[in-house]
Amino acid sequence: ASGSPRPDGMVLWTRLAPDPLQGGGMGEAPVDVQWEVARDEGFARIAARGRATATAALAHSVHVEVQGLAPGRPYWYRFTALGARSPVGRTRTAPAEGDAAPQPLRFAFASCQQYEQGYYAAYRDMAMQPLDFVVHLGDYIYESSWGSRHVRHHQGGIPTQLGEFRDRYALYKTDPHLQAAHAAFPWLVTWDDHEVANDYTDDVSPRSIDPAQFLAIRAAAYQAWYEHMPVPASMRPTGAAATIYGRHRFGRMLDVFLLDGRQYRSHHACLAGRSASPLADCADRLAPERSFLGAKQEAWLANELAAPPARWTVIAQPTLLAEADRKRGPEHGYWMDGWDGYAASRTRLLDGLAANQARGGDALVISGDVHAFWAADLRREPQGPAVATEFVGGAITSEGPSAAGVANMLAKNEHLRYGRGDKRGYAQMALDARGCTVEFRAVDDEKAEDAAVVPMARFAVERGAPGVHLEST
Ligand code: FE
Ligand code: CA
Repeated sequence: ASGSPRPDGMVLWTRLAPDPLQGGGMGEAPVDVQWEVARDEGFARIAARGRATATAALAHSVHVEVQGLAPGRPYWYRFTALGARSPVGRTRTAPAEGDAAPQPLRFAFASCQQYEQGYYAAYRDMAMQPLDFVVHLGDYIYESSWGSRHVRHHQGGIPTQLGEFRDRYALYKTDPHLQAAHAAFPWLVTWDDHEVANDYTDDVSPRSIDPAQFLAIRAAAYQAWYEHMPVPASMRPTGAAATIYGRHRFGRMLDVFLLDGRQYRSHHACLAGRSASPLADCADRLAPERSFLGAKQEAWLANELAAPPARWTVIAQPTLLAEADRKRGPEHGYWMDGWDGYAASRTRLLDGLAANQARGGDALVISGDVHAFWAADLRREPQGPAVATEFVGGAITSEGPSAAGVANMLAKNEHLRYGRGDKRGYAQMALDARGCTVEFRAVDDEKAEDAAVVPMARFAVERGAPGVHLEST
Protein backbone atom coordinates (compact mmCIF):
# COMPACT_ATOMS: atom_id res chain seq x y z
CA ALA A 1 0.00 0.00 0.00
CA SER A 2 0.99 3.64 -0.35
CA GLY A 3 -0.39 6.82 1.20
CA SER A 4 -0.05 10.46 2.19
CA PRO A 5 1.21 11.57 -1.24
CA ARG A 6 3.35 14.73 -1.36
CA PRO A 7 4.92 16.46 -4.38
CA ASP A 8 8.24 14.71 -3.76
CA GLY A 9 7.18 11.36 -2.33
CA MET A 10 4.76 9.32 -0.31
CA VAL A 11 4.59 6.61 2.34
CA LEU A 12 5.12 3.03 1.19
CA TRP A 13 3.76 0.32 3.45
CA THR A 14 4.02 -3.40 3.81
CA ARG A 15 3.80 -5.97 6.57
CA LEU A 16 5.64 -9.28 6.73
CA ALA A 17 3.02 -11.78 7.90
CA PRO A 18 3.30 -15.31 6.53
CA ASP A 19 0.70 -16.47 9.08
CA PRO A 20 -1.49 -13.35 9.06
CA LEU A 21 -4.49 -14.58 11.05
CA GLN A 22 -2.47 -15.90 13.99
CA GLY A 23 -0.13 -13.15 15.00
CA GLY A 24 1.78 -12.90 11.74
CA GLY A 25 4.19 -15.79 12.23
CA MET A 26 7.37 -13.70 12.19
CA GLY A 27 8.77 -14.32 15.67
CA GLU A 28 10.79 -11.69 17.52
CA ALA A 29 13.79 -11.01 15.25
CA PRO A 30 14.04 -7.82 13.19
CA VAL A 31 14.11 -8.32 9.43
CA ASP A 32 15.86 -6.28 6.75
CA VAL A 33 13.46 -5.11 4.01
CA GLN A 34 14.59 -3.59 0.71
CA TRP A 35 12.31 -1.22 -1.19
CA GLU A 36 12.48 0.11 -4.73
CA VAL A 37 10.57 2.86 -6.53
CA ALA A 38 10.62 2.97 -10.33
CA ARG A 39 9.39 5.29 -13.07
CA ASP A 40 8.09 2.32 -15.01
CA GLU A 41 6.13 -0.81 -14.22
CA GLY A 42 9.00 -3.05 -15.35
CA PHE A 43 11.50 -1.42 -12.92
CA ALA A 44 13.92 -0.52 -15.73
CA ARG A 45 14.26 3.06 -14.44
CA ILE A 46 14.74 3.07 -10.66
CA ALA A 47 13.92 6.42 -9.04
CA ALA A 48 14.73 5.58 -5.42
CA ARG A 49 15.67 2.58 -3.31
CA GLY A 50 16.60 1.86 0.27
CA ARG A 51 16.33 -0.44 3.26
CA ALA A 52 14.07 -0.50 6.27
CA THR A 53 13.91 -2.72 9.33
CA ALA A 54 10.70 -4.57 10.16
CA THR A 55 10.47 -5.16 13.91
CA ALA A 56 8.23 -7.22 16.14
CA ALA A 57 7.32 -4.04 18.06
CA LEU A 58 5.37 -2.92 14.94
CA ALA A 59 4.18 -6.40 13.90
CA HIS A 60 6.91 -6.43 11.22
CA SER A 61 5.20 -3.61 9.37
CA VAL A 62 7.27 -1.11 7.38
CA HIS A 63 6.48 2.57 6.76
CA VAL A 64 8.93 4.07 4.28
CA GLU A 65 8.80 7.82 3.66
CA VAL A 66 10.16 8.22 0.13
CA GLN A 67 11.63 11.59 -0.84
CA GLY A 68 13.20 13.13 -3.92
CA LEU A 69 10.59 12.07 -6.49
CA ALA A 70 9.10 14.28 -9.21
CA PRO A 71 5.64 15.83 -8.69
CA GLY A 72 2.38 14.81 -10.31
CA ARG A 73 3.37 11.51 -11.89
CA PRO A 74 2.95 7.77 -11.35
CA TYR A 75 5.53 5.51 -9.75
CA TRP A 76 5.72 1.77 -9.12
CA TYR A 77 7.15 0.15 -6.01
CA ARG A 78 7.99 -3.25 -4.54
CA PHE A 79 9.61 -4.79 -1.48
CA THR A 80 12.08 -7.66 -1.07
CA ALA A 81 12.71 -9.49 2.21
CA LEU A 82 13.98 -12.92 3.25
CA GLY A 83 14.41 -13.86 -0.41
CA ALA A 84 10.79 -13.08 -1.30
CA ARG A 85 9.55 -10.25 -3.49
CA SER A 86 6.21 -8.48 -3.08
CA PRO A 87 3.72 -7.77 -5.84
CA VAL A 88 4.20 -4.40 -7.55
CA GLY A 89 2.17 -1.44 -6.36
CA ARG A 90 1.37 1.72 -8.29
CA THR A 91 1.29 5.11 -6.64
CA ARG A 92 1.42 8.78 -7.55
CA THR A 93 3.02 11.94 -6.25
CA ALA A 94 0.91 15.03 -5.56
CA PRO A 95 1.15 17.93 -8.03
CA ALA A 96 3.83 20.59 -7.42
CA GLU A 97 2.81 23.17 -4.79
CA GLY A 98 3.23 26.15 -7.12
CA ASP A 99 1.90 24.48 -10.26
CA ALA A 100 1.34 27.18 -12.87
CA ALA A 101 -1.59 25.36 -14.50
CA PRO A 102 -3.44 23.36 -11.83
CA GLN A 103 -4.33 19.94 -13.16
CA PRO A 104 -7.75 18.30 -12.79
CA LEU A 105 -7.95 15.71 -10.02
CA ARG A 106 -10.12 12.65 -9.52
CA PHE A 107 -10.37 10.63 -6.33
CA ALA A 108 -12.61 8.09 -4.63
CA PHE A 109 -13.92 8.14 -1.09
CA ALA A 110 -15.17 5.19 0.90
CA SER A 111 -16.07 4.03 4.40
CA CYS A 112 -17.71 1.27 6.45
CA GLN A 113 -16.59 -2.13 5.22
CA GLN A 114 -17.98 -4.69 7.69
CA TYR A 115 -16.30 -7.84 6.41
CA GLU A 116 -19.02 -10.31 7.30
CA GLN A 117 -21.85 -8.40 5.63
CA GLY A 118 -20.58 -8.47 2.06
CA TYR A 119 -17.85 -8.83 -0.51
CA TYR A 120 -15.68 -5.93 -1.62
CA ALA A 121 -16.98 -5.63 -5.20
CA ALA A 122 -16.79 -1.86 -4.68
CA TYR A 123 -13.00 -2.10 -4.33
CA ARG A 124 -12.73 -4.31 -7.41
CA ASP A 125 -14.46 -1.52 -9.32
CA MET A 126 -12.43 1.24 -7.66
CA ALA A 127 -9.10 -0.40 -8.52
CA MET A 128 -9.94 -0.15 -12.24
CA GLN A 129 -10.79 3.57 -12.20
CA PRO A 130 -8.48 6.41 -13.30
CA LEU A 131 -7.90 7.94 -9.86
CA ASP A 132 -5.20 10.14 -8.37
CA PHE A 133 -5.85 8.95 -4.82
CA VAL A 134 -8.39 7.40 -2.43
CA VAL A 135 -9.74 8.79 0.84
CA HIS A 136 -10.95 6.35 3.51
CA LEU A 137 -13.28 7.93 6.04
CA GLY A 138 -13.33 5.26 8.72
CA ASP A 139 -14.80 1.95 9.86
CA TYR A 140 -11.99 0.19 7.99
CA ILE A 141 -12.48 -2.73 10.40
CA TYR A 142 -15.38 -3.51 12.69
CA GLU A 143 -14.69 -4.65 16.21
CA SER A 144 -18.04 -6.46 16.43
CA SER A 145 -20.15 -8.92 14.48
CA TRP A 146 -23.56 -7.53 13.61
CA GLY A 147 -26.02 -7.30 10.75
CA SER A 148 -27.86 -9.96 8.81
CA ARG A 149 -27.01 -12.49 6.09
CA HIS A 150 -23.27 -12.78 6.70
CA VAL A 151 -21.30 -14.04 3.69
CA ARG A 152 -18.05 -14.62 5.64
CA HIS A 153 -16.94 -14.46 9.25
CA HIS A 154 -14.70 -12.72 11.72
CA GLN A 155 -12.58 -15.01 13.82
CA GLY A 156 -12.57 -14.40 17.54
CA GLY A 157 -14.81 -12.04 19.47
CA ILE A 158 -14.53 -8.31 20.10
CA PRO A 159 -10.82 -7.45 20.24
CA THR A 160 -9.41 -5.77 23.32
CA GLN A 161 -5.74 -6.81 23.11
CA LEU A 162 -3.14 -5.69 20.57
CA GLY A 163 -2.76 -9.19 19.13
CA GLU A 164 -6.51 -9.44 18.60
CA PHE A 165 -6.67 -6.11 16.78
CA ARG A 166 -3.69 -7.15 14.62
CA ASP A 167 -5.45 -10.35 13.59
CA ARG A 168 -8.65 -8.42 12.75
CA TYR A 169 -6.78 -6.01 10.46
CA ALA A 170 -4.94 -8.94 8.90
CA LEU A 171 -8.24 -10.70 8.18
CA TYR A 172 -9.69 -7.65 6.41
CA LYS A 173 -6.46 -7.22 4.47
CA THR A 174 -6.62 -10.79 3.11
CA ASP A 175 -9.37 -9.54 0.78
CA PRO A 176 -7.93 -9.40 -2.77
CA HIS A 177 -10.09 -6.47 -3.89
CA LEU A 178 -9.11 -4.34 -0.91
CA GLN A 179 -5.47 -5.24 -1.63
CA ALA A 180 -5.95 -4.25 -5.28
CA ALA A 181 -7.38 -0.84 -4.38
CA HIS A 182 -4.44 -0.19 -2.04
CA ALA A 183 -1.95 -1.35 -4.67
CA ALA A 184 -3.48 0.92 -7.34
CA PHE A 185 -3.51 4.34 -5.61
CA PRO A 186 -2.11 6.25 -2.64
CA TRP A 187 -4.63 6.53 0.19
CA LEU A 188 -5.44 9.18 2.78
CA VAL A 189 -6.99 7.56 5.84
CA THR A 190 -8.79 8.67 8.95
CA TRP A 191 -10.72 6.57 11.42
CA ASP A 192 -14.19 6.49 12.92
CA ASP A 193 -15.50 4.53 15.89
CA HIS A 194 -15.38 0.86 14.86
CA GLU A 195 -11.60 0.84 14.64
CA VAL A 196 -11.89 0.86 18.45
CA ALA A 197 -15.46 0.49 19.78
CA ASN A 198 -18.93 1.51 18.60
CA ASP A 199 -19.89 5.10 19.39
CA TYR A 200 -16.89 5.88 21.57
CA THR A 201 -16.21 9.48 22.48
CA ASP A 202 -12.66 10.27 23.61
CA ASP A 203 -12.18 8.08 26.70
CA VAL A 204 -15.74 6.77 27.02
CA SER A 205 -17.20 3.73 25.30
CA PRO A 206 -20.81 2.70 25.82
CA ARG A 207 -19.48 -0.85 26.15
CA SER A 208 -16.65 -0.19 28.53
CA ILE A 209 -16.58 -0.24 32.32
CA ASP A 210 -14.31 2.68 33.08
CA PRO A 211 -12.16 5.15 31.11
CA ALA A 212 -8.83 3.68 32.24
CA GLN A 213 -9.83 0.27 30.94
CA PHE A 214 -11.15 1.79 27.73
CA LEU A 215 -8.00 3.81 27.10
CA ALA A 216 -5.96 0.58 27.27
CA ILE A 217 -8.20 -0.85 24.54
CA ARG A 218 -7.90 2.39 22.55
CA ALA A 219 -4.10 2.24 22.78
CA ALA A 220 -4.07 -1.31 21.40
CA ALA A 221 -6.51 -0.38 18.64
CA TYR A 222 -4.60 2.74 17.57
CA GLN A 223 -1.33 0.78 17.56
CA ALA A 224 -2.79 -1.89 15.27
CA TRP A 225 -4.32 0.81 13.04
CA TYR A 226 -0.89 2.41 12.60
CA GLU A 227 0.74 -0.93 11.88
CA HIS A 228 -1.71 -1.60 9.04
CA MET A 229 -2.09 1.80 7.38
CA PRO A 230 0.14 3.56 4.80
CA VAL A 231 0.70 6.55 7.08
CA PRO A 232 3.86 8.39 8.17
CA ALA A 233 5.74 7.82 11.43
CA SER A 234 4.32 11.12 12.70
CA MET A 235 1.01 9.26 13.15
CA ARG A 236 2.51 6.51 15.29
CA PRO A 237 0.63 6.39 18.60
CA THR A 238 2.12 7.11 21.99
CA GLY A 239 -0.05 5.09 24.33
CA ALA A 240 -3.66 5.95 23.62
CA ALA A 241 -2.82 9.16 21.70
CA ALA A 242 -2.06 9.59 18.00
CA THR A 243 -2.15 12.74 15.85
CA ILE A 244 -3.65 11.72 12.53
CA TYR A 245 -5.44 14.90 11.41
CA GLY A 246 -3.72 17.15 8.91
CA ARG A 247 -3.67 19.01 5.60
CA HIS A 248 -2.82 17.28 2.32
CA ARG A 249 -2.10 19.70 -0.53
CA PHE A 250 -2.61 18.87 -4.21
CA GLY A 251 -1.03 21.83 -5.96
CA ARG A 252 -3.17 24.93 -6.11
CA MET A 253 -6.22 22.89 -7.09
CA LEU A 254 -7.03 21.24 -3.77
CA ASP A 255 -6.40 21.17 -0.04
CA VAL A 256 -7.74 18.08 1.74
CA PHE A 257 -8.23 18.51 5.47
CA LEU A 258 -8.41 15.07 7.01
CA LEU A 259 -10.08 15.21 10.42
CA ASP A 260 -10.17 12.99 13.52
CA GLY A 261 -13.75 12.97 14.81
CA ARG A 262 -13.31 10.48 17.66
CA GLN A 263 -10.23 11.00 19.77
CA TYR A 264 -10.95 14.47 21.13
CA ARG A 265 -14.72 14.88 21.06
CA SER A 266 -16.97 15.79 23.97
CA HIS A 267 -18.97 12.95 25.49
CA HIS A 268 -22.50 12.40 24.17
CA ALA A 269 -25.11 15.06 24.97
CA CYS A 270 -28.68 14.44 26.08
CA LEU A 271 -28.10 10.76 26.85
CA ALA A 272 -27.39 10.92 30.61
CA GLY A 273 -29.29 8.16 32.38
CA ARG A 274 -30.49 6.71 29.09
CA SER A 275 -29.31 3.54 27.44
CA ALA A 276 -27.64 5.01 24.35
CA SER A 277 -30.89 5.97 22.68
CA PRO A 278 -30.18 6.77 19.04
CA LEU A 279 -32.43 9.83 18.95
CA ALA A 280 -32.68 12.62 21.50
CA ASP A 281 -32.95 16.36 21.84
CA CYS A 282 -32.10 18.74 24.67
CA ALA A 283 -30.44 22.12 25.18
CA ASP A 284 -27.10 20.51 26.02
CA ARG A 285 -26.47 19.46 22.42
CA LEU A 286 -26.29 23.17 21.52
CA ALA A 287 -23.82 24.10 24.27
CA PRO A 288 -20.96 26.20 22.85
CA GLU A 289 -18.25 24.39 24.82
CA ARG A 290 -19.11 21.08 23.19
CA SER A 291 -16.66 20.11 20.44
CA PHE A 292 -16.62 17.38 17.81
CA LEU A 293 -12.93 17.92 17.06
CA GLY A 294 -11.54 19.09 20.39
CA ALA A 295 -10.23 22.59 21.06
CA LYS A 296 -6.76 22.03 19.58
CA GLN A 297 -7.91 20.46 16.30
CA GLU A 298 -10.68 23.08 15.95
CA ALA A 299 -8.16 25.91 16.40
CA TRP A 300 -5.76 24.31 13.92
CA LEU A 301 -8.51 23.95 11.32
CA ALA A 302 -9.79 27.50 11.82
CA ASN A 303 -6.26 28.78 11.34
CA GLU A 304 -5.79 26.70 8.18
CA LEU A 305 -9.12 27.86 6.72
CA ALA A 306 -8.09 31.48 7.29
CA ALA A 307 -5.01 31.02 5.06
CA PRO A 308 -5.13 31.68 1.29
CA PRO A 309 -7.25 28.82 -0.05
CA ALA A 310 -6.64 26.41 -2.90
CA ARG A 311 -9.37 26.44 -5.56
CA TRP A 312 -11.10 23.61 -3.74
CA THR A 313 -11.16 22.75 -0.08
CA VAL A 314 -12.24 19.23 0.85
CA ILE A 315 -13.08 18.52 4.46
CA ALA A 316 -12.71 14.74 4.81
CA GLN A 317 -14.27 13.56 8.05
CA PRO A 318 -16.21 10.60 9.38
CA THR A 319 -19.90 11.42 9.54
CA LEU A 320 -22.80 13.46 8.10
CA LEU A 321 -22.16 17.14 8.84
CA ALA A 322 -25.55 18.48 7.75
CA GLU A 323 -28.26 18.83 10.38
CA ALA A 324 -30.64 15.87 10.25
CA ASP A 325 -33.91 15.73 12.14
CA ARG A 326 -34.55 11.99 12.11
CA LYS A 327 -37.68 11.70 14.22
CA ARG A 328 -40.93 10.61 12.58
CA GLY A 329 -43.80 13.07 12.96
CA PRO A 330 -43.76 16.71 14.08
CA GLU A 331 -41.31 16.34 16.99
CA HIS A 332 -37.57 16.75 16.55
CA GLY A 333 -35.02 14.03 17.24
CA TYR A 334 -31.32 13.97 16.53
CA TRP A 335 -28.63 11.33 16.58
CA MET A 336 -26.31 12.26 19.40
CA ASP A 337 -23.27 10.44 17.99
CA GLY A 338 -23.31 12.65 14.87
CA TRP A 339 -22.62 16.36 14.41
CA ASP A 340 -26.14 17.16 15.68
CA GLY A 341 -24.85 16.36 19.14
CA TYR A 342 -22.16 19.03 18.60
CA ALA A 343 -24.16 21.79 16.92
CA ALA A 344 -22.02 24.75 18.02
CA SER A 345 -18.88 22.96 16.85
CA ARG A 346 -20.53 22.52 13.45
CA THR A 347 -21.48 26.19 13.32
CA ARG A 348 -17.85 27.17 13.93
CA LEU A 349 -16.75 24.87 11.10
CA LEU A 350 -19.38 26.29 8.71
CA ASP A 351 -18.29 29.83 9.64
CA GLY A 352 -14.75 28.88 8.66
CA LEU A 353 -15.93 27.38 5.36
CA ALA A 354 -17.99 30.48 4.59
CA ALA A 355 -14.94 32.70 5.17
CA ASN A 356 -12.90 30.35 2.99
CA GLN A 357 -15.48 30.68 0.23
CA ALA A 358 -15.51 34.44 0.55
CA ARG A 359 -11.76 34.39 -0.17
CA GLY A 360 -12.25 32.33 -3.35
CA GLY A 361 -11.91 28.74 -2.19
CA ASP A 362 -14.90 26.49 -2.60
CA ALA A 363 -15.57 23.99 0.16
CA LEU A 364 -16.77 20.42 -0.19
CA VAL A 365 -17.36 18.07 2.72
CA ILE A 366 -17.02 14.31 2.23
CA SER A 367 -18.38 11.95 4.84
CA GLY A 368 -19.03 8.33 5.77
CA ASP A 369 -20.38 6.46 8.79
CA VAL A 370 -24.12 6.54 8.10
CA HIS A 371 -24.17 3.66 5.58
CA ALA A 372 -26.16 5.64 3.04
CA PHE A 373 -25.58 8.02 0.14
CA TRP A 374 -26.47 11.66 0.81
CA ALA A 375 -25.99 14.98 -0.99
CA ALA A 376 -26.66 18.10 1.04
CA ASP A 377 -26.53 21.88 0.91
CA LEU A 378 -24.64 23.09 4.00
CA ARG A 379 -26.28 26.23 5.35
CA ARG A 380 -25.60 28.36 8.40
CA GLU A 381 -29.29 29.20 8.80
CA PRO A 382 -32.22 26.96 7.78
CA GLN A 383 -33.30 29.20 4.87
CA GLY A 384 -29.90 30.75 4.20
CA PRO A 385 -27.62 30.20 1.22
CA ALA A 386 -25.40 27.15 0.99
CA VAL A 387 -21.85 27.91 2.10
CA ALA A 388 -20.52 24.47 1.17
CA THR A 389 -21.70 21.17 -0.30
CA GLU A 390 -21.64 17.75 1.34
CA PHE A 391 -21.51 14.27 -0.14
CA VAL A 392 -21.77 11.07 1.89
CA GLY A 393 -20.41 8.17 -0.11
CA GLY A 394 -22.38 5.17 1.13
CA ALA A 395 -20.79 2.11 2.73
CA ILE A 396 -18.60 -0.48 1.06
CA THR A 397 -20.61 -3.29 2.71
CA SER A 398 -22.20 -2.18 6.01
CA GLU A 399 -25.99 -2.42 6.28
CA GLY A 400 -27.92 0.80 5.77
CA PRO A 401 -31.05 2.47 7.12
CA SER A 402 -34.57 1.51 6.07
CA ALA A 403 -36.20 3.12 3.03
CA ALA A 404 -38.79 4.65 5.35
CA GLY A 405 -36.06 6.17 7.51
CA VAL A 406 -34.35 7.76 4.50
CA ALA A 407 -37.67 9.03 3.11
CA ASN A 408 -38.50 10.58 6.47
CA MET A 409 -35.12 12.35 6.64
CA LEU A 410 -35.56 13.71 3.10
CA ALA A 411 -39.04 14.96 3.98
CA LYS A 412 -38.03 16.64 7.22
CA ASN A 413 -34.74 18.21 6.08
CA GLU A 414 -35.06 20.10 2.81
CA HIS A 415 -31.33 20.84 2.62
CA LEU A 416 -30.81 17.07 2.28
CA ARG A 417 -31.20 16.99 -1.48
CA TYR A 418 -30.64 13.31 -2.20
CA GLY A 419 -30.60 10.15 -0.09
CA ARG A 420 -30.34 6.42 -0.79
CA GLY A 421 -29.92 3.78 1.91
CA ASP A 422 -30.64 0.60 0.00
CA LYS A 423 -27.39 0.33 -1.94
CA ARG A 424 -23.78 -0.20 -0.89
CA GLY A 425 -20.87 1.37 -2.77
CA TYR A 426 -18.62 4.42 -2.82
CA ALA A 427 -18.21 7.82 -4.48
CA GLN A 428 -15.87 9.48 -6.95
CA MET A 429 -15.17 13.20 -7.04
CA ALA A 430 -13.59 15.02 -10.01
CA LEU A 431 -12.32 18.59 -9.66
CA ASP A 432 -11.13 21.11 -12.21
CA ALA A 433 -10.92 24.87 -12.55
CA ARG A 434 -14.60 25.24 -13.40
CA GLY A 435 -16.42 22.77 -11.26
CA CYS A 436 -16.80 19.57 -9.32
CA THR A 437 -18.64 16.43 -10.30
CA VAL A 438 -19.53 13.60 -7.95
CA GLU A 439 -20.63 10.14 -8.97
CA PHE A 440 -22.17 7.68 -6.55
CA ARG A 441 -21.34 4.12 -7.63
CA ALA A 442 -23.59 1.33 -6.39
CA VAL A 443 -22.89 -2.36 -5.86
CA ASP A 444 -25.67 -4.42 -7.40
CA ASP A 445 -25.61 -6.99 -4.55
CA GLU A 446 -22.90 -6.92 -1.90
CA LYS A 447 -23.74 -10.53 -0.97
CA ALA A 448 -22.60 -11.71 -4.43
CA GLU A 449 -18.86 -12.07 -5.03
CA ASP A 450 -19.09 -11.11 -8.72
CA ALA A 451 -21.61 -8.27 -8.34
CA ALA A 452 -21.67 -5.48 -10.90
CA VAL A 453 -20.92 -1.91 -9.81
CA VAL A 454 -22.75 0.82 -11.71
CA PRO A 455 -23.23 4.61 -11.58
CA MET A 456 -26.30 5.45 -9.47
CA ALA A 457 -26.35 9.25 -9.44
CA ARG A 458 -24.26 12.16 -10.68
CA PHE A 459 -24.03 15.64 -9.20
CA ALA A 460 -22.33 18.90 -10.08
CA VAL A 461 -21.11 21.79 -7.96
CA GLU A 462 -20.14 24.97 -9.75
CA ARG A 463 -17.13 27.02 -8.71
CA GLY A 464 -18.31 29.98 -6.65
CA ALA A 465 -21.84 28.60 -6.23
CA PRO A 466 -22.07 26.03 -3.42
CA GLY A 467 -24.97 23.63 -3.41
CA VAL A 468 -26.07 20.35 -4.96
CA HIS A 469 -27.06 20.11 -8.61
CA LEU A 470 -28.42 16.68 -9.45
CA GLU A 471 -27.36 15.84 -13.02
CA SER A 472 -28.72 12.33 -13.43
CA THR A 473 -29.88 9.25 -11.61
FE1 FE B 1 -19.88 2.16 9.77
CA1 CA C 1 -21.37 3.96 15.55
